[in-house]
Amino acid sequence: MDKKLVYSLNEGSSEMTEILGEKGANLAEMTKIGIPVPFGFTISTEACSRFYENGGKMDPAVRAEICAKVSELEDVTGKNLGDPENPLLLAVRGSAPVPMNGALKTILNLGLNRDTVNALEKMTGDKRFALNNMLDFLASYSSLVMGVDEDKFIDLYTQKSGQFCTDKDDLLSIGELEDLEEEYRNLIHEETGADVPEDPIEQLENGILALLRQWMSPDVVSYRKIRQIPDEPGEAITVQAMVYGNAGSSSGTGVVLSRDPTSGEKRLYGEFMINAKGSDMQRGIRTPMELSIMGAAFPDVYDRLKHICEILETQYRDLQYAEFTVQKGKLYILQTRRGRRTAQAAVRTAVDMVSENLIDRKTAVLRIDPVSIENLLAPRFDPEQEKDAKVIAEGIEASPGCACGRLVFSAEQALQLHQIGEPVILVQKDTDAEDLAGIYASAGIVTQRGATTSHASGAARAMGKACVTSVGDDLEIADDLNSMQAGDKTYYRGEYISINGFRGRVYEGQIHMIPPDLSGDFGKIMGWADEFRTMKVRTNANTPEEAKQGMDFGAEGIGLCRSEHMFYQGNRLQLFQRMILTEDPEKRREVMEEIKQIQRADYYEIFTVMEGFPVSIRLLDLPLQDFLPDSRRELAAFAEEADLSVGSVQRVADSLRENNPMLGRRGCRLCIMHPEIAEMQTEAIISAAIEAEEKMKRQVDLEIVVPLVISVHELNTVKEVISRTAQKVMKESGHKIEYRIGSMLEVPRACMRADALAESVDTFSFGTNDLTQMMYGLSRSDTAGLISEYIDQGIFPNDPFKTIDREGVGKMMQRAITLGRRVKPNLRLGVCGAQTGDQDSVQFFQEIGINYVSCSPFRVPVARLAAAQAAIRLGSGKDE
Ligand code: PEP
Ligand code: MG
Repeated sequence: MDKKLVYSLNEGSSEMTEILGEKGANLAEMTKIGIPVPFGFTISTEACSRFYENGGKMDPAVRAEICAKVSELEDVTGKNLGDPENPLLLAVRGSAPVPMNGALKTILNLGLNRDTVNALEKMTGDKRFALNNMLDFLASYSSLVMGVDEDKFIDLYTQKSGQFCTDKDDLLSIGELEDLEEEYRNLIHEETGADVPEDPIEQLENGILALLRQWMSPDVVSYRKIRQIPDEPGEAITVQAMVYGNAGSSSGTGVVLSRDPTSGEKRLYGEFMINAKGSDMQRGIRTPMELSIMGAAFPDVYDRLKHICEILETQYRDLQYAEFTVQKGKLYILQTRRGRRTAQAAVRTAVDMVSENLIDRKTAVLRIDPVSIENLLAPRFDPEQEKDAKVIAEGIEASPGCACGRLVFSAEQALQLHQIGEPVILVQKDTDAEDLAGIYASAGIVTQRGATTSHASGAARAMGKACVTSVGDDLEIADDLNSMQAGDKTYYRGEYISINGFRGRVYEGQIHMIPPDLSGDFGKIMGWADEFRTMKVRTNANTPEEAKQGMDFGAEGIGLCRSEHMFYQGNRLQLFQRMILTEDPEKRREVMEEIKQIQRADYYEIFTVMEGFPVSIRLLDLPLQDFLPDSRRELAAFAEEADLSVGSVQRVADSLRENNPMLGRRGCRLCIMHPEIAEMQTEAIISAAIEAEEKMKRQVDLEIVVPLVISVHELNTVKEVISRTAQKVMKESGHKIEYRIGSMLEVPRACMRADALAESVDTFSFGTNDLTQMMYGLSRSDTAGLISEYIDQGIFPNDPFKTIDREGVGKMMQRAITLGRRVKPNLRLGVCGAQTGDQDSVQFFQEIGINYVSCSPFRVPVARLAAAQAAIRLGSGKDE
């Protein structure tokens, strides 16, 4: 049987998004469960693929099926396309399998021509209504099908009325509307040399072709690229009988969410506009009323809407977003989809839905986007400072979060500053799909116009950015986009402002941030995640403070303590430099003793913070050169301050300089060239552990990790230094402690020799930063620009330093695991590169049998959740 290409709305289900697009599939589902949806049909994504396979021509089979569906629609509605007495008028909308945020356009009132507009007037007894719909049709059709700039229609309307959209529906007289229709038609003719066809069938065919073409238009392609939406399977097109929200005072249009998308509270949330159409809502030009106010004016419709939301939630078992139209008191649902929500609302909704028996706990855990919870972990403004900060504008709290950044007034300016690493706050009149890259690059967004459902708000929520909208006249942006006026003060581009998306406020200057609250529903979800999780999550921590932060976020140990990072604070750097640059052995020993005491104190504190959880301390791994003063002048100044001879300091420095330090004397190579450093560190670690055990009266779970290992001889050489020194310290103190030795796996050769290495150690810790750097031959510190260019050109699917490269680096890890576990089945495996904070990578680590991941403290909850989700998805999670 030939493949079906066009589906009536009573022929599909929500499972069919790949075929019917998200909109078409959900309309079909609603039709199936008896929700009032205007009847129609959906042209499948398969038809879109055929259109492109046919070189941009409509497949005759698709055309034939569309004709049949139009006839069916005519039968169901009792109206006919082009009928001068009772015309069928259509809404034609594009939709993809995933939400496209308004990037795909719509044609409304298709089927109107000089005859049918008269019929519309006769049927409704309202000429103004008929003319307004004609204007909508001319603008939406000619902009999409004929390429006329839609703003030009807005200009014409504004010239006539003084404003584009208004609460007064009698702003233009009938005569003026008739004139405007002619002006619209003249504009179309002047711009294109052609007219809008009168024949509704021709209109429909042209409209469908234009909607199919828009899938590959530059704007839509770039939108897909930003959101990483694949080209396949393409766009579906839904054709429905028109219903009118602009049919008088008992009509209107609105959007509803079944729960509050900001807090997650269980109450209807949304907006409604009387006598208006959907595009009026989206433009946010008229101020809509809150749904609760609509409830007082239209109690029956409100009750029905509430009932429908309950049905939708039961059907979809999730927070739903729906668009609706009320036509002369009758309610229609025009689309429904999973409602976007803030991280806070996602957590509350998931927890509440478990207690309402709508979902189980595993589903609740899977519902939370691990990356989004970083929002909850994000610091907020210090209330003391916020209290005193100068408020320069107030608006609607459109997307939660707090942000400080430099003022910019266009997406382009945002991108420029973002590229040089500056945080920016984008302030615009409003935003549309073309601003998405700018919104993405910004820390926060402020718009003069808009509502919680308008473009900027939706996009900001989706990207987890703070957003304040509808600040109105509080801010006046200068035409040259270089400054804005707020009250009597001018703020220039580049100046700092702060915004609070929880409170809808814009402040002058920068405000100090404080840490978040992690109890309540968040704590519950994380608790459930921990129950299902099988992989451990540790934190990378170099100081006692970081260790504490990681533990507060739920870490189960330290997976990586980078010893060299201890020397970046205060005057420690100078001490370290003295250790490297002092030639005289006696003086050098004195400095090393001082350093040892500092390290010992740090390690001691770390052990006591960790209260017996595992701590992996890595021996020093940094090219010594990185600790040297940069210039000769600085070297001389250093020598003078340290009371060393300039000549000797320069001699040592010269001997340490390397052309390629990342591939030079670093990692365990340092320990071999300078065994006294490894000895000093081991003494510090072991003596701190002894002291901590005595103080805590419990065992320290210690592992000493050897960095950047290449060969088993190298590993054993360092291991011998560690063991000998540890023995000596234990003997001197009379206190024996247990400790393990681990090897970092960061060099491809080490992975290939993992069987030999496994004979010597108990743990492998994959350093996926270096492993990626060495396998790609790409510097981890200098190639961000190159990598983003490669991603733009489609050469790399993503940044391998952020998401593990399963096919290359991942394969190497798997090889090492197989070799290592063959020798030592219980070999403990950890990963501590930056990819451990990434959801996909965590899933991969679960798949290949890693025992723990270790990430920066702020990423610990992300990794806990991602690990739980991976375990649930792979069926390896513990049961409820
Ligand atoms: C690594 O290489 O992945 C690693 C954790 O070590 P560092 O980032 O300190 O080189
Ligand atoms: Mg490394």
